[in-house]
Amino acid sequence: MRTTINYLVGFLHARLDDDERDARLFHELDCPVRTALAPRACWCPCPGQLLGHVDINRSLVARHMERLERERITQGWPSESIRAFECLKAMALAYELHPDWPDTWYP
Ligand SMILES: [Zn+2]
Repeated sequence: MRTTINYLVGFLHARLDDDERDARLFHELDCPVRTALAPRACWCPCPGQLLGHVDINRSLVARHMERLERERITQGWPSESIRAFECLKAMALAYELHPDWPDTWYP
């Protein structure tokens, strides 16, 4: 189970990295940075919102990993691990079309 969770968390981190990269490339049609030769900061609302969603999802993954680690240390009933695993799988469902997403992750 630990290997599966590690793979799932690695998958989520990689997809969130992709989302972050894509968000930084996005600009509104009237943004002056869009046509600039050198990248620089701008105030387009959508990239900020997309990056905010990435941050929220990163914190959710971290919180679930903390639950898994806490349960590993206490060696208690694996209810926290099961719940965390199901939540992480639900988060990964947004990327089900990615070639690295296995069918066994359907919630
Ligand atoms: Zn912009």
